[in-house]
Amino acid sequence: MAPVACALLVFSTHASTASGVPSALVSRALGWANTNGVQMSPQPGSFVHAPLSLSPFPLSADGFARARALAPIFNELVEAVASDPEWLLGVLEATLESDPFTGRLARVLREATRAGPEAQPLHLGIHRSDYMLDEPARADGGGYEPARLLQIELNTIASSFGCLSARISQLHAYVCAVAPADVAAVLDGPAAAELAAGAELPSNAALEMLPDALAAAHAAYIAQVAGAPSAGAPPAGAPPVVVFVVQPGERNVADQRLLELALWERHGVQAVRCTLAELAAGAQLRDGPAHPNGSPRPCLWVGGREVAVAYFRAGYSPDDYPTEAEWAARLAIERSAAVKCPTVAYQLAGTKKVQQVLAEPGALERFVPSAEHAAALRATFAGLFSLQTDDEYEAALRLTRADEDGYVLKPQREGGGNNIYGRDAAARLAAMRAGEREGYILMERIRPRARRLALARNNEACITEAVCELGVFGVFLGGGGQPALLNRAAGHLLRAKPLGTDEGGVAAGFAVLSSPLLE
Ligand code: ADP
Ligand code: MG
Ligand code: MG
Repeated sequence: MAPVACALLVFSTHASTASGVPSALVSRALGWANTNGVQMSPQPGSFVHAPLSLSPFPLSADGFARARALAPIFNELVEAVASDPEWLLGVLEATLESDPFTGRLARVLREATRAGPEAQPLHLGIHRSDYMLDEPARADGGGYEPARLLQIELNTIASSFGCLSARISQLHAYVCAVAPADVAAVLDGPAAAELAAGAELPSNAALEMLPDALAAAHAAYIAQVAGAPSAGAPPAGAPPVVVFVVQPGERNVADQRLLELALWERHGVQAVRCTLAELAAGAQLRDGPAHPNGSPRPCLWVGGREVAVAYFRAGYSPDDYPTEAEWAARLAIERSAAVKCPTVAYQLAGTKKVQQVLAEPGALERFVPSAEHAAALRATFAGLFSLQTDDEYEAALRLTRADEDGYVLKPQREGGGNNIYGRDAAARLAAMRAGEREGYILMERIRPRARRLALARNNEACITEAVCELGVFGVFLGGGGQPALLNRAAGHLLRAKPLGTDEGGVAAGFAVLSSPLLE
Protein backbone atom coordinates (compact mmCIF):
# COMPACT_ATOMS: atom_id res chain seq x y z
CA MET A 1 0.00 0.00 0.00
CA ALA A 2 1.21 3.55 -0.75
CA PRO A 3 2.28 5.54 2.30
CA VAL A 4 -0.35 7.86 3.76
CA ALA A 5 -0.35 11.24 2.00
CA CYS A 6 1.74 13.77 3.93
CA ALA A 7 1.55 16.86 1.81
CA LEU A 8 3.07 19.42 4.11
CA LEU A 9 6.59 20.66 4.36
CA VAL A 10 7.50 20.64 7.99
CA PHE A 11 9.70 23.67 8.13
CA SER A 12 6.75 25.96 7.64
CA THR A 13 7.01 29.44 9.15
CA HIS A 14 3.36 29.22 10.21
CA ALA A 15 2.49 28.24 13.78
CA SER A 16 0.66 25.24 12.51
CA THR A 17 0.81 23.28 9.26
CA ALA A 18 -2.43 23.00 7.28
CA SER A 19 -3.04 19.49 8.68
CA GLY A 20 -3.04 20.90 12.20
CA VAL A 21 0.41 19.74 13.33
CA PRO A 22 2.13 22.60 15.21
CA SER A 23 5.26 23.53 13.23
CA ALA A 24 7.22 24.03 16.45
CA LEU A 25 6.52 20.44 17.45
CA VAL A 26 7.72 19.15 14.10
CA SER A 27 10.94 21.15 14.13
CA ARG A 28 11.68 20.26 17.77
CA ALA A 29 11.03 16.55 17.19
CA LEU A 30 12.99 16.32 13.95
CA GLY A 31 15.78 18.48 15.37
CA TRP A 32 16.08 16.06 18.29
CA ALA A 33 15.89 13.03 16.00
CA ASN A 34 18.55 14.25 13.59
CA THR A 35 21.01 15.21 16.32
CA ASN A 36 20.56 11.93 18.24
CA GLY A 37 20.85 9.33 15.52
CA VAL A 38 17.15 8.60 14.92
CA GLN A 39 17.93 8.18 11.26
CA MET A 40 17.76 5.83 8.35
CA SER A 41 19.97 5.68 5.29
CA PRO A 42 17.99 5.45 2.05
CA GLN A 43 21.29 5.39 0.10
CA PRO A 44 24.81 4.70 1.35
CA GLY A 45 26.21 7.90 2.86
CA SER A 46 22.90 9.80 2.99
CA PHE A 47 20.70 10.03 6.06
CA VAL A 48 17.18 11.20 6.81
CA HIS A 49 15.24 11.07 10.08
CA ALA A 50 13.52 7.71 10.65
CA PRO A 51 9.74 7.67 10.12
CA LEU A 52 8.39 8.65 13.55
CA SER A 53 5.35 9.77 15.45
CA LEU A 54 5.45 13.27 16.92
CA SER A 55 3.79 12.18 20.15
CA PRO A 56 3.58 8.97 22.17
CA PHE A 57 0.75 6.57 21.30
CA PRO A 58 -1.85 5.46 23.88
CA LEU A 59 -1.35 1.86 25.02
CA SER A 60 -2.91 -0.21 27.79
CA ALA A 61 -0.62 -0.26 30.85
CA ASP A 62 -1.82 -3.78 31.65
CA GLY A 63 -1.06 -5.07 28.14
CA PHE A 64 2.39 -3.49 28.29
CA ALA A 65 3.19 -5.04 31.68
CA ARG A 66 1.96 -8.47 30.58
CA ALA A 67 3.98 -8.40 27.36
CA ARG A 68 7.12 -7.48 29.30
CA ALA A 69 6.56 -10.26 31.81
CA LEU A 70 6.34 -12.83 28.99
CA ALA A 71 9.80 -12.03 27.57
CA PRO A 72 11.86 -14.37 29.82
CA ILE A 73 9.33 -17.16 29.29
CA PHE A 74 9.50 -16.83 25.50
CA ASN A 75 13.32 -16.76 25.81
CA GLU A 76 13.27 -20.12 27.59
CA LEU A 77 10.79 -21.51 25.09
CA VAL A 78 13.13 -20.69 22.19
CA GLU A 79 16.05 -22.32 24.00
CA ALA A 80 13.97 -25.45 24.72
CA VAL A 81 12.67 -25.77 21.14
CA ALA A 82 16.12 -25.16 19.65
CA SER A 83 17.59 -27.82 21.95
CA ASP A 84 15.31 -30.42 20.35
CA PRO A 85 16.44 -30.44 16.69
CA GLU A 86 14.57 -33.67 15.98
CA TRP A 87 11.25 -32.10 17.00
CA LEU A 88 12.11 -28.90 15.15
CA LEU A 89 13.05 -30.64 11.92
CA GLY A 90 10.06 -32.97 12.29
CA VAL A 91 7.47 -30.16 12.53
CA LEU A 92 9.15 -28.31 9.68
CA GLU A 93 9.49 -31.35 7.42
CA ALA A 94 6.59 -30.67 5.04
CA THR A 95 7.34 -26.93 5.07
CA LEU A 96 10.97 -27.56 4.08
CA GLU A 97 9.93 -29.36 0.94
CA SER A 98 7.74 -26.53 -0.33
CA ASP A 99 10.03 -23.73 0.90
CA PRO A 100 13.61 -24.11 -0.37
CA PHE A 101 14.97 -21.30 1.85
CA THR A 102 13.71 -22.83 5.09
CA GLY A 103 14.85 -26.17 3.69
CA ARG A 104 18.36 -24.82 3.25
CA LEU A 105 18.47 -23.47 6.82
CA ALA A 106 17.42 -26.92 8.02
CA ARG A 107 20.28 -28.40 6.00
CA VAL A 108 22.73 -26.10 7.81
CA LEU A 109 21.29 -27.31 11.12
CA ARG A 110 21.59 -30.96 10.07
CA GLU A 111 25.14 -30.56 8.80
CA ALA A 112 26.26 -28.70 11.91
CA THR A 113 24.60 -31.30 14.16
CA ARG A 114 26.18 -34.17 12.22
CA ALA A 115 29.64 -32.65 12.76
CA GLY A 116 29.36 -33.49 16.49
CA PRO A 117 28.44 -31.68 19.70
CA GLU A 118 28.11 -27.91 19.48
CA ALA A 119 31.49 -26.18 19.54
CA GLN A 120 29.79 -23.45 21.55
CA PRO A 121 27.23 -24.57 24.15
CA LEU A 122 26.12 -21.01 24.90
CA HIS A 123 23.48 -19.34 22.73
CA LEU A 124 22.73 -15.65 22.69
CA GLY A 125 19.12 -14.72 21.99
CA ILE A 126 18.11 -11.17 21.17
CA HIS A 127 14.45 -11.82 20.45
CA ARG A 128 11.51 -9.51 19.94
CA SER A 129 8.00 -10.75 20.57
CA ASP A 130 5.46 -8.60 18.73
CA TYR A 131 1.87 -8.07 19.86
CA MET A 132 -1.27 -6.21 19.00
CA LEU A 133 -4.20 -5.56 21.27
CA ASP A 134 -7.24 -7.09 19.63
CA GLU A 135 -10.02 -4.63 20.40
CA PRO A 136 -12.68 -4.77 17.69
CA ALA A 137 -15.59 -2.35 17.71
CA ARG A 138 -18.69 -3.90 19.31
CA ALA A 139 -21.28 -5.25 16.92
CA ASP A 140 -23.98 -3.07 18.54
CA GLY A 141 -21.92 0.02 17.72
CA GLY A 142 -21.35 0.91 21.39
CA GLY A 143 -17.63 1.10 22.11
CA TYR A 144 -15.10 -1.74 21.90
CA GLU A 145 -14.81 -5.37 22.95
CA PRO A 146 -12.45 -5.98 25.94
CA ALA A 147 -8.85 -5.84 24.69
CA ARG A 148 -6.87 -9.09 24.28
CA LEU A 149 -3.08 -9.03 24.01
CA LEU A 150 -2.28 -11.30 21.04
CA GLN A 151 1.10 -12.23 19.65
CA ILE A 152 1.78 -11.38 16.01
CA GLU A 153 5.08 -13.26 15.84
CA LEU A 154 8.32 -13.97 17.66
CA ASN A 155 11.47 -12.69 15.95
CA THR A 156 14.58 -14.68 16.79
CA ILE A 157 16.95 -13.22 14.19
CA ALA A 158 17.93 -9.62 13.42
CA SER A 159 15.31 -8.23 15.81
CA SER A 160 15.75 -4.57 15.02
CA PHE A 161 14.84 -1.04 16.13
CA GLY A 162 15.75 -1.48 19.81
CA CYS A 163 18.21 1.40 19.82
CA LEU A 164 16.12 3.78 17.72
CA SER A 165 13.12 2.95 19.94
CA ALA A 166 15.03 3.83 23.08
CA ARG A 167 15.87 7.15 21.46
CA ILE A 168 12.22 7.73 20.46
CA SER A 169 11.18 7.27 24.10
CA GLN A 170 13.69 10.01 25.01
CA LEU A 171 12.45 12.19 22.14
CA HIS A 172 8.84 11.89 23.29
CA ALA A 173 9.78 12.57 26.92
CA TYR A 174 11.53 15.71 25.69
CA VAL A 175 8.66 17.07 23.55
CA CYS A 176 6.11 16.28 26.28
CA ALA A 177 8.25 18.21 28.78
CA VAL A 178 9.06 21.25 26.67
CA ALA A 179 5.96 21.53 24.46
CA PRO A 180 3.07 19.84 26.30
CA ALA A 181 0.40 22.01 24.67
CA ASP A 182 1.68 21.19 21.17
CA VAL A 183 1.73 17.48 21.99
CA ALA A 184 -1.77 17.63 23.50
CA ALA A 185 -2.99 19.36 20.33
CA VAL A 186 -2.13 16.33 18.19
CA LEU A 187 -3.46 13.67 20.60
CA ASP A 188 -7.09 12.67 20.74
CA GLY A 189 -9.13 14.04 23.66
CA PRO A 190 -8.73 11.22 26.22
CA ALA A 191 -5.02 10.78 25.51
CA ALA A 192 -4.41 14.54 25.80
CA ALA A 193 -6.20 14.56 29.16
CA GLU A 194 -4.13 11.60 30.37
CA LEU A 195 -0.93 13.28 29.33
CA ALA A 196 -1.95 16.47 31.14
CA ALA A 197 -2.71 14.38 34.23
CA GLY A 198 0.82 12.90 34.15
CA ALA A 199 0.29 9.57 32.35
CA GLU A 200 3.40 7.42 32.29
CA LEU A 201 5.95 7.35 29.48
CA PRO A 202 7.90 4.21 30.39
CA SER A 203 11.66 4.35 30.01
CA ASN A 204 13.18 2.05 27.41
CA ALA A 205 16.42 0.29 28.42
CA ALA A 206 17.16 -1.31 25.03
CA LEU A 207 20.16 0.95 24.44
CA GLU A 208 21.78 -0.43 27.59
CA MET A 209 20.45 -3.99 27.73
CA LEU A 210 21.11 -5.03 24.13
CA PRO A 211 24.80 -4.00 24.23
CA ASP A 212 25.07 -5.50 27.72
CA ALA A 213 23.80 -8.83 26.34
CA LEU A 214 26.40 -8.81 23.54
CA ALA A 215 29.08 -7.91 26.10
CA ALA A 216 27.96 -10.75 28.41
CA ALA A 217 28.35 -13.24 25.54
CA HIS A 218 31.76 -11.74 24.70
CA ALA A 219 32.88 -12.05 28.33
CA ALA A 220 31.62 -15.64 28.57
CA TYR A 221 33.60 -16.57 25.45
CA ILE A 222 36.80 -15.07 26.83
CA ALA A 223 36.27 -16.82 30.16
CA GLN A 224 35.88 -20.18 28.38
CA VAL A 225 39.09 -19.76 26.42
CA ALA A 226 41.03 -18.55 29.48
CA GLY A 227 39.71 -21.52 31.44
CA ALA A 228 40.62 -24.11 28.80
CA PRO A 229 43.20 -26.65 30.10
CA SER A 230 45.49 -26.23 27.08
CA ALA A 231 45.20 -22.45 26.92
CA GLY A 232 48.66 -21.63 28.29
CA ALA A 233 49.52 -17.95 28.19
CA PRO A 234 46.81 -15.65 26.84
CA PRO A 235 47.44 -15.02 23.14
CA ALA A 236 49.22 -11.80 22.32
CA GLY A 237 47.50 -9.26 20.11
CA ALA A 238 44.14 -7.58 19.93
CA PRO A 239 41.23 -9.03 21.94
CA PRO A 240 38.37 -10.92 20.25
CA VAL A 241 35.64 -8.90 18.54
CA VAL A 242 31.90 -9.08 17.99
CA VAL A 243 31.06 -9.46 14.30
CA PHE A 244 27.88 -7.75 13.14
CA VAL A 245 26.80 -9.79 10.10
CA VAL A 246 25.06 -7.15 7.99
CA GLN A 247 23.36 -6.71 4.65
CA PRO A 248 25.16 -4.67 1.99
CA GLY A 249 23.49 -1.26 1.65
CA GLU A 250 21.51 -1.63 4.92
CA ARG A 251 19.01 1.24 5.41
CA ASN A 252 18.55 0.70 9.13
CA VAL A 253 22.23 1.31 9.80
CA ALA A 254 21.84 3.95 12.56
CA ASP A 255 20.03 1.43 14.79
CA GLN A 256 23.01 -0.91 14.33
CA ARG A 257 25.65 1.79 14.80
CA LEU A 258 24.05 2.98 18.04
CA LEU A 259 24.34 -0.60 19.33
CA GLU A 260 27.92 -0.89 18.14
CA LEU A 261 28.87 2.41 19.82
CA ALA A 262 27.11 1.53 23.07
CA LEU A 263 29.00 -1.79 23.12
CA TRP A 264 32.26 0.13 22.81
CA GLU A 265 31.41 2.90 25.24
CA ARG A 266 29.83 0.75 27.96
CA HIS A 267 32.17 -2.25 27.67
CA GLY A 268 35.20 -1.40 25.53
CA VAL A 269 34.24 -4.25 23.19
CA GLN A 270 34.96 -3.68 19.53
CA ALA A 271 32.55 -4.65 16.77
CA VAL A 272 33.36 -5.32 13.14
CA ARG A 273 30.73 -5.11 10.39
CA CYS A 274 30.89 -7.83 7.69
CA THR A 275 28.50 -9.05 5.04
CA LEU A 276 28.10 -12.79 4.50
CA ALA A 277 30.02 -12.38 1.23
CA GLU A 278 32.91 -10.72 3.07
CA LEU A 279 32.90 -13.49 5.64
CA ALA A 280 32.86 -16.07 2.84
CA ALA A 281 35.97 -14.45 1.39
CA GLY A 282 37.83 -13.64 4.61
CA ALA A 283 36.72 -15.78 7.56
CA GLN A 284 38.66 -18.83 8.74
CA LEU A 285 38.26 -21.56 11.33
CA ARG A 286 41.44 -22.14 13.37
CA ASP A 287 42.01 -24.66 16.16
CA GLY A 288 41.81 -22.93 19.51
CA PRO A 289 42.56 -24.36 22.96
CA ALA A 290 40.43 -27.51 23.45
CA HIS A 291 37.32 -27.62 25.66
CA PRO A 292 37.76 -29.06 29.17
CA ASN A 293 36.32 -32.37 27.88
CA GLY A 294 39.01 -32.47 25.20
CA SER A 295 36.73 -31.69 22.25
CA PRO A 296 38.21 -29.30 19.68
CA ARG A 297 37.43 -25.60 19.60
CA PRO A 298 37.23 -24.32 15.98
CA CYS A 299 37.68 -20.59 16.53
CA LEU A 300 36.32 -18.10 14.00
CA TRP A 301 38.78 -15.49 12.74
CA VAL A 302 38.17 -12.57 10.43
CA GLY A 303 40.60 -9.83 9.36
CA GLY A 304 43.23 -11.04 11.82
CA ARG A 305 40.81 -10.90 14.79
CA GLU A 306 39.25 -13.75 16.71
CA VAL A 307 35.45 -13.59 16.80
CA ALA A 308 33.80 -14.08 20.19
CA VAL A 309 30.23 -13.36 19.06
CA ALA A 310 28.58 -13.52 15.62
CA TYR A 311 25.55 -11.22 15.75
CA PHE A 312 23.28 -11.53 12.73
CA ARG A 313 21.48 -8.50 11.34
CA ALA A 314 21.33 -10.38 8.02
CA GLY A 315 20.79 -13.99 7.02
CA TYR A 316 16.99 -14.05 7.44
CA SER A 317 16.14 -13.53 3.78
CA PRO A 318 16.88 -15.66 0.69
CA ASP A 319 18.36 -12.47 -0.84
CA ASP A 320 21.13 -12.65 1.76
CA TYR A 321 22.44 -15.85 0.12
CA PRO A 322 22.87 -15.06 -3.60
CA THR A 323 25.54 -17.78 -4.05
CA GLU A 324 26.79 -20.94 -2.36
CA ALA A 325 29.59 -18.88 -0.78
CA GLU A 326 27.17 -17.14 1.63
CA TRP A 327 25.72 -20.51 2.66
CA ALA A 328 29.24 -21.83 3.23
CA ALA A 329 29.96 -18.81 5.45
CA ARG A 330 26.79 -19.41 7.44
CA LEU A 331 27.73 -23.06 7.99
CA ALA A 332 31.28 -22.14 9.03
CA ILE A 333 29.95 -19.67 11.61
CA GLU A 334 27.46 -22.25 12.85
CA ARG A 335 30.24 -24.82 13.33
CA SER A 336 32.57 -22.36 15.02
CA ALA A 337 33.15 -21.78 18.72
CA ALA A 338 31.85 -18.18 18.42
CA VAL A 339 28.65 -17.47 20.37
CA LYS A 340 25.93 -17.17 17.74
CA CYS A 341 23.09 -14.68 17.95
CA PRO A 342 21.19 -16.55 16.75
CA THR A 343 22.10 -20.16 16.00
CA VAL A 344 20.31 -21.68 13.00
CA ALA A 345 18.16 -23.67 15.46
CA TYR A 346 17.09 -20.41 17.15
CA GLN A 347 16.28 -18.94 13.74
CA LEU A 348 14.14 -21.97 12.82
CA ALA A 349 12.42 -21.86 16.23
CA GLY A 350 11.17 -18.38 15.20
CA THR A 351 9.46 -19.51 11.99
CA LYS A 352 5.75 -18.97 11.58
CA LYS A 353 5.26 -22.73 11.13
CA VAL A 354 6.76 -23.40 14.57
CA GLN A 355 4.56 -20.63 16.01
CA GLN A 356 1.50 -22.37 14.56
CA VAL A 357 2.52 -25.84 15.76
CA LEU A 358 3.26 -24.60 19.29
CA ALA A 359 -0.32 -23.33 19.43
CA GLU A 360 -1.67 -26.87 18.86
CA PRO A 361 -2.99 -28.62 21.97
CA GLY A 362 -0.16 -29.95 24.16
CA ALA A 363 2.73 -28.76 21.96
CA LEU A 364 3.75 -25.80 24.09
CA GLU A 365 3.52 -27.84 27.25
CA ARG A 366 6.24 -30.17 25.95
CA PHE A 367 8.73 -27.28 26.28
CA VAL A 368 7.33 -25.17 29.12
CA PRO A 369 7.31 -27.18 32.35
CA SER A 370 5.43 -24.59 34.39
CA ALA A 371 1.66 -24.81 33.75
CA GLU A 372 1.33 -21.19 34.83
CA HIS A 373 3.94 -20.05 32.29
CA ALA A 374 2.41 -22.17 29.52
CA ALA A 375 -1.03 -20.69 30.23
CA ALA A 376 0.37 -17.14 30.16
CA LEU A 377 1.99 -17.75 26.75
CA ARG A 378 -1.05 -19.56 25.37
CA ALA A 379 -3.34 -16.68 26.35
CA THR A 380 -1.51 -14.54 23.74
CA PHE A 381 -1.89 -17.02 20.87
CA ALA A 382 -4.28 -15.91 18.14
CA GLY A 383 -6.02 -18.47 15.93
CA LEU A 384 -3.26 -20.22 13.94
CA PHE A 385 -4.04 -22.83 11.30
CA SER A 386 -1.95 -25.42 9.48
CA LEU A 387 -2.47 -25.96 5.75
CA GLN A 388 -0.61 -29.24 5.65
CA THR A 389 -3.19 -32.02 5.27
CA ASP A 390 -6.17 -31.98 2.90
CA ASP A 391 -8.51 -31.75 5.88
CA GLU A 392 -6.64 -28.78 7.32
CA TYR A 393 -6.63 -27.05 3.96
CA GLU A 394 -10.39 -27.62 3.48
CA ALA A 395 -11.06 -26.32 6.99
CA ALA A 396 -8.99 -23.18 6.26
CA LEU A 397 -10.93 -22.61 3.03
CA ARG A 398 -14.18 -22.79 4.99
CA LEU A 399 -12.89 -20.25 7.53
CA THR A 400 -11.85 -17.73 4.90
CA ARG A 401 -15.12 -18.19 2.97
CA ALA A 402 -17.12 -17.50 6.12
CA ASP A 403 -15.10 -14.36 6.95
CA GLU A 404 -13.22 -13.15 3.87
CA ASP A 405 -11.52 -10.30 5.67
CA GLY A 406 -10.70 -12.16 8.85
CA TYR A 407 -7.36 -13.87 8.11
CA VAL A 408 -3.73 -13.36 7.13
CA LEU A 409 -1.79 -15.87 5.02
CA LYS A 410 1.88 -16.07 6.02
CA PRO A 411 4.89 -17.68 4.33
CA GLN A 412 8.09 -18.53 6.23
CA ARG A 413 9.66 -15.13 5.64
CA GLU A 414 10.96 -12.24 7.75
CA GLY A 415 11.42 -8.55 7.22
CA GLY A 416 7.92 -7.46 6.22
CA GLY A 417 6.08 -7.26 2.92
CA ASN A 418 5.52 -11.02 2.54
CA ASN A 419 2.06 -11.67 3.99
CA ILE A 420 -1.28 -11.74 2.18
CA TYR A 421 -4.29 -10.16 3.89
CA GLY A 422 -8.05 -10.40 3.95
CA ARG A 423 -9.74 -10.99 0.60
CA ASP A 424 -6.39 -11.47 -1.14
CA ALA A 425 -5.57 -14.17 1.39
CA ALA A 426 -8.89 -15.92 0.79
CA ALA A 427 -8.38 -15.81 -2.99
CA ARG A 428 -4.75 -16.91 -2.82
CA LEU A 429 -5.59 -19.77 -0.49
CA ALA A 430 -8.33 -21.00 -2.82
CA ALA A 431 -5.87 -21.00 -5.75
CA MET A 432 -3.09 -22.85 -3.91
CA ARG A 433 -1.63 -26.09 -5.22
CA ALA A 434 -0.81 -29.03 -2.99
CA GLY A 435 2.95 -28.86 -2.47
CA GLU A 436 2.80 -25.08 -2.13
CA ARG A 437 0.46 -24.59 0.79
CA GLU A 438 2.71 -26.42 3.29
CA GLY A 439 5.02 -23.39 3.13
CA TYR A 440 2.31 -21.15 4.61
CA ILE A 441 0.20 -20.83 7.72
CA LEU A 442 -3.13 -19.06 8.14
CA MET A 443 -3.63 -16.66 11.05
CA GLU A 444 -6.64 -14.95 12.54
CA ARG A 445 -6.53 -11.26 11.75
CA ILE A 446 -6.07 -9.07 14.83
CA ARG A 447 -8.08 -5.84 14.96
CA PRO A 448 -6.53 -3.16 17.12
CA ARG A 449 -8.36 0.05 17.94
CA ALA A 450 -7.42 3.12 15.89
CA ARG A 451 -6.30 6.38 17.51
CA ARG A 452 -5.31 9.76 16.18
CA LEU A 453 -1.60 10.07 15.39
CA ALA A 454 0.67 12.85 14.12
CA LEU A 455 3.61 11.47 12.21
CA ALA A 456 6.58 12.65 10.17
CA ARG A 457 8.21 10.93 7.22
CA ASN A 458 10.81 12.41 4.89
CA ASN A 459 10.46 15.81 6.56
CA GLU A 460 6.72 15.93 6.00
CA ALA A 461 4.11 15.77 8.75
CA CYS A 462 0.47 14.81 8.84
CA ILE A 463 -2.26 13.52 11.12
CA THR A 464 -3.93 10.18 10.51
CA GLU A 465 -5.86 7.41 12.26
CA ALA A 466 -3.41 4.69 13.26
CA VAL A 467 -3.07 1.36 15.07
CA CYS A 468 -0.03 0.14 16.98
CA GLU A 469 2.08 -2.99 17.41
CA LEU A 470 4.16 -3.49 20.56
CA GLY A 471 7.44 -5.39 20.41
CA VAL A 472 9.18 -6.48 23.60
CA PHE A 473 12.87 -7.38 23.41
CA GLY A 474 14.14 -10.34 25.38
CA VAL A 475 17.80 -11.21 25.91
CA PHE A 476 18.99 -14.71 26.82
CA LEU A 477 22.43 -16.22 27.27
CA GLY A 478 22.51 -19.89 28.14
CA GLY A 479 22.44 -23.41 26.78
CA GLY A 480 24.08 -26.77 27.28
CA GLY A 481 21.45 -27.67 29.88
CA GLN A 482 23.00 -25.21 32.36
CA PRO A 483 21.10 -22.43 34.16
CA ALA A 484 20.87 -19.30 32.00
CA LEU A 485 23.51 -16.60 32.57
CA LEU A 486 21.07 -13.94 31.38
CA ASN A 487 17.31 -13.99 30.83
CA ARG A 488 15.23 -10.83 30.91
CA ALA A 489 13.11 -8.30 29.05
CA ALA A 490 15.33 -5.72 27.38
CA GLY A 491 13.32 -2.72 26.25
CA HIS A 492 10.55 -2.33 23.71
CA LEU A 493 9.46 -1.03 20.33
CA LEU A 494 6.14 0.60 19.55
CA ARG A 495 5.30 0.91 15.88
CA ALA A 496 2.23 2.72 14.62
CA LYS A 497 0.80 2.42 11.14
CA PRO A 498 -2.03 4.24 9.41
CA LEU A 499 -5.34 2.43 9.67
CA GLY A 500 -5.94 0.36 6.54
CA THR A 501 -2.23 -0.38 6.03
CA ASP A 502 -1.84 -4.14 6.26
CA GLU A 503 1.92 -4.53 6.60
CA GLY A 504 3.77 -3.14 9.59
CA GLY A 505 7.49 -2.66 8.90
CA VAL A 506 9.25 0.65 9.54
CA ALA A 507 12.20 -0.19 7.28
CA ALA A 508 9.75 -1.38 4.63
CA GLY A 509 8.05 2.07 4.75
CA PHE A 510 4.68 1.10 6.23
CA ALA A 511 4.93 2.05 9.91
CA VAL A 512 6.53 4.77 12.03
CA LEU A 513 8.46 4.50 15.28
CA SER A 514 6.49 5.56 18.32
CA SER A 515 6.52 5.04 22.08
CA PRO A 516 3.79 4.10 24.58
CA LEU A 517 1.69 6.55 26.57
CA LEU A 518 0.40 4.13 29.19
CA GLU A 519 -3.30 4.41 30.00
P1 ADP B 1 7.41 -10.32 9.43
O1 ADP B 1 8.22 -11.41 10.02
O2 ADP B 1 7.63 -10.16 7.96
O3 ADP B 1 7.54 -9.02 10.18
P2 ADP B 1 4.74 -10.45 10.60
O4 ADP B 1 4.06 -11.70 10.98
O5 ADP B 1 5.25 -9.61 11.71
O6 ADP B 1 5.89 -10.80 9.55
O7 ADP B 1 3.74 -9.58 9.73
C1 ADP B 1 4.09 -8.32 9.23
C2 ADP B 1 3.06 -7.29 9.66
O8 ADP B 1 1.76 -7.68 9.25
C3 ADP B 1 2.95 -7.10 11.16
O9 ADP B 1 3.90 -6.15 11.61
C4 ADP B 1 1.52 -6.63 11.33
O10 ADP B 1 1.42 -5.23 11.11
C5 ADP B 1 0.79 -7.34 10.21
N1 ADP B 1 0.18 -8.60 10.70
C6 ADP B 1 0.78 -9.80 10.78
N2 ADP B 1 -0.05 -10.72 11.30
C7 ADP B 1 -1.21 -10.10 11.56
C8 ADP B 1 -2.47 -10.50 12.11
N3 ADP B 1 -2.68 -11.76 12.46
N4 ADP B 1 -3.42 -9.57 12.23
C9 ADP B 1 -3.22 -8.29 11.85
N5 ADP B 1 -2.07 -7.85 11.32
C10 ADP B 1 -1.06 -8.73 11.17
MG1 MG C 1 9.41 -11.28 11.75
MG1 MG D 1 6.99 -8.73 12.13
